[in-house]
Amino acid sequence: MTDDRADALLAYALMVTRDPAVAADAVHDALIASTALAERAPTSTHLGWLLALTRTECLRQLRARTVFIDTSLPVAPSADPFDVLTPGDRDALCLMRRSDLSAGEGARAMGCREGEALNRATNAQKAWSEAAAVLALLTADPSVCPVVDQVLSEASESQGLLTPTARRRLQRHAGTCARCRTVFMPMRSEARDLLDIPTSVPVPAELLSRIAVTRGDPDRTAYLGNRIGALDDWGFPIPPDRADRDPSSWLRWGAIAAAVSAALLLVGLVAFALTSR
Ligand SMILES: [Zn+2]
Repeated sequence: MTDDRADALLAYALMVTRDPAVAADAVHDALIASTALAERAPTSTHLGWLLALTRTECLRQLRARTVFIDTSLPVAPSADPFDVLTPGDRDALCLMRRSDLSAGEGARAMGCREGEALNRATNAQKAWSEAAAVLALLTADPSVCPVVDQVLSEASESQGLLTPTARRRLQRHAGTCARCRTVFMPMRSEARDLLDIPTSVPVPAELLSRIAVTRGDPDRTAYLGNRIGALDDWGFPIPPDRADRDPSSWLRWGAIAAAVSAALLLVGLVAFALTSR
């Protein structure tokens, strides 16, 4: 039984999905799948393997809600900086900045090379400190700059939410505005020390009993094990986001790009024919 790691898996799932119900479903499905796939578990990296299964389930749950690993959503100006990040940024921080996994194990859970995983974590940490600095600007009292006031009044007109585009615009402004820089710059460098990623959270009793009930159902257990899909040579799931970068999908994109170029060429020829008469 692997439910003693449910606290670590739930902490991860909550960070990636930012939704308690979605996170609980992902942990449930991942732990049931781990039972079905137990004979393929690599014992030396057990937490990493369970996190990889949980990651697959989190991405599946998010995709069902048309949220992808690089989706940034509009959030309230006062939202936690973690909510500003994409699921992919939070994923990299959770897996690469935790003390109970090595960098290699974190990278394997993400299904990529260690160098790429470390890069993703560095970029995510930069995005986090910038989000924290923008939050400091947006919540400064008294307000530091009329541009910030303008952004806040635009947000209050659109259901109190700030779009990712408006946030990026403010961030670019803050880097060059003398008034904003006094708040933005110190916060951006201090934020590095404030980054605190929980590696475990208390698991609700009803989630544990739900897992126990499902384990008593061999058909459901086998179904959730199969649904994880293909496993690599080490028994880790092939990450759903890696499929996007699969060379065969590049070929498909290449074919689309070629078709678009052909269409543009045709438009050009027609335009040339019309103008040269
Ligand atoms: Zn300013």
